Amino acid sequence: MISDALSRAFSLLDQDMLGYLDAVEELTDAHEADETVLAVARTEVPRLIAALRGTLGNHQADILGLCLGCAPTWTDGRFTRTPWPCPVIDAAHTYLKDPTSIYPDLGQRSR
Ligand SMILES: [Zn+2]
Repeated sequence: MISDALSRAFSLLDQDMLGYLDAVEELTDAHEADETVLAVARTEVPRLIAALRGTLGNHQADILGLCLGCAPTWTDGRFTRTPWPCPVIDAAHTYLKDPTSIYPDLGQRSR
């Protein structure tokens, strides 16, 4: 169980990251000047790629084909680990192939 303070810190971090993504999205949409889109893309696309690479890099298969990034779960009286590709890899692959598919999943926007 996490404390209220830690829960609030996680909530603020989530809001901060979502706010950052909203800002990048708004500054690169079709209504912005090409110079703005180019400047934001040059600085923020590498950051977004690094975030995705870092996330995916944690979710690699071990020699048994189990994900090293997903937490073990207690199932049937023992710890088990998630087979790779895990849900994190599946989700990243799905959203990279079809970015609009994330919005119904988030339940907050429709594009
Ligand atoms: Zn995983």
